[in-house]
Amino acid sequence: MLLSAKTLRHVLVIGVDGVRFDLLGPEVTPVIWGFGAAGFLGPVPVDETTPTWSGPCWATIATGTGVDGHGITGNDLTGHRLAEHPDFVTVATRAGVPTLLAVSGWAPLALAEDGGPLFAEATRREFVAPSEVSLEAWDAADEAVTALAASILAREAPRLSFVYLGAVDVVGHVLGAGSAYREAARAADERVGRLLFAVQSGPSFADEAWTTVVVTDHGHLDQGGHGGREPEVATAWAAAAGPGIQPGDQALITSQEQVAPLVLAALGDMSGS
Ligand SMILES: [Zn+2]
Repeated sequence: MLLSAKTLRHVLVIGVDGVRFDLLGPEVTPVIWGFGAAGFLGPVPVDETTPTWSGPCWATIATGTGVDGHGITGNDLTGHRLAEHPDFVTVATRAGVPTLLAVSGWAPLALAEDGGPLFAEATRREFVAPSEVSLEAWDAADEAVTALAASILAREAPRLSFVYLGAVDVVGHVLGAGSAYREAARAADERVGRLLFAVQSGPSFADEAWTTVVVTDHGHLDQGGHGGREPEVATAWAAAAGPGIQPGDQALITSQEQVAPLVLAALGDMSGS
């Protein structure tokens, strides 16, 4: 699409924790699969120096720097160097861009727990905790954060949003990568679709330019638990579509460090917002 100087750029980043690349396809994840035609969808190997845990992988995705930069090697973020390497939501917020952070389930991303928050600053910050320790409660938290984020996206259209869904990862840890894991991924994909629909139903959508990024942090072992460098664990993925990304383009994200620069570039000029 052609962008006039007045077209305001928006970016929606959806993080879906722990979705294996080999699970993606038109049957289980049709919405995410559709990015392959609308923009790109491709595997993203987790860097050899990065433990395949949520903490370091999301930190690399959010900051654009690796473990040697942000200093996070596990799910307790204590001792991090995020002050020197801030996340993309914080960078945009400090530039005066209206931002939304909406996180389900995993507290250190959004709250001052376990050395967090990984995302330091946001114009609007929402966190939905599971009501109890159960797979059903994690699913309900993902559902609640999706509904909340969708209503904010449709009404306020923040210039930059990060929405995080955590339930698929929890199912993978507890039950392994079987039928329940596939169903959790199917539910997450449907939620991604609702967030995209919310963006498109915004009152000024026709005058806005939206880039959408969907990304995971790592995969899972067949049998559950926590893996290491196995290909099914150490292969993440990323998908994106929007202005400047040609339909069916080759992947513009081939390492986790490339997510944050792409997000901030897609936001364009951060002044005058
Ligand atoms: Zn994870």
